[in-house]
Amino acid sequence: MITFLSGGTGTPKLLQGMREHLPDAEISVVVNTAEDIWMSGNHISPDIDTVLYLYAGILDSKKWWGVHGDTFLTHKVLKDLGGEEFIAIGDRDRATHILRGAMVRRGLDLTECTRELCRLFHVQVTILPMSNTPVSTMVETSQGTMHFQEFWVKHHGLPAVRKVYRTSEKPPAASPEVVHAIQESDAVVIGPSNPITSIMPILECKGVMEALSQQRVIAVSPFIGNRPISGPAGALMEAWGMEPNSRGTYHLYQDVVNVFIQDIRDDIEVPNAFQYDTLMSENGKSGALAMYILEIINNFNSIH
Ligand code: GDP
Repeated sequence: MITFLSGGTGTPKLLQGMREHLPDAEISVVVNTAEDIWMSGNHISPDIDTVLYLYAGILDSKKWWGVHGDTFLTHKVLKDLGGEEFIAIGDRDRATHILRGAMVRRGLDLTECTRELCRLFHVQVTILPMSNTPVSTMVETSQGTMHFQEFWVKHHGLPAVRKVYRTSEKPPAASPEVVHAIQESDAVVIGPSNPITSIMPILECKGVMEALSQQRVIAVSPFIGNRPISGPAGALMEAWGMEPNSRGTYHLYQDVVNVFIQDIRDDIEVPNAFQYDTLMSENGKSGALAMYILEIINNFNSIH
């Protein structure tokens, strides 16, 4: 069993590559939920949805969110009627959010909702929300303070970022399932996801760092030089007080990481980093990176 810590783009690309080598049933994915938001009365969990759709074989892997070939009729009608829906939600995608919202209202926690959705989508992998406590990533910007989704989707990531912080009713704890998955794995992979909005929310859940410190942990950088491959990670790292590069990422993870992989094109110096082609621009490349990680895990004692 290998456990991945994931957001909704970079790590899912790596997960897709890992499917070429390992059965889904041997993978657990602990997923960020700090980007979750209720919209039009339904519960969107963007990173869980991406991982769910990936394993269900219905992901729109051009955008890395939503369902392939989805239609947007309901979204269009809602907007025509004056509804406030700043995320373009597809009709099929919305069905997942309706189901999840209904389950939450019935009193299921997010772990139970996700387990049920995995069953409905015939998904073999274990998908685990990082915590059952709702958490939101908030961004303080030149245009006011807003939820990360509002910053990234409604405002297209344009306002200058001053501060990033998390809100939750109580300090989030990792679910027992998350702690168990980390403890029982052969290794944990921190995928190439946004460190501030995808990975740190998971590491901040009580119990995660402690469990990781007893594990073999391999991390893959989402940066090449001073730029992320995609998304707002650079500006968010700076607002977090970190260098927007692999070295900054390494420093965030250094208390638990054993092997840190940066891209072969990345000339930023990172202590003891391994180098490999991490740019998963096509399927074969994610499969090759996944194989490289499996070799590290299999030879862990001799190389670390
Ligand atoms: P989000 O939830 O949609 O923000 O997705 P993630 O946090 O999982 O992924 C976003 C991060 O993935 C960005 O910081 C990108 O730099 C990184 N990323 C995307 N594609 C690749 C890739 O092919 N290779 C690497 N190394 N990182 C990638």
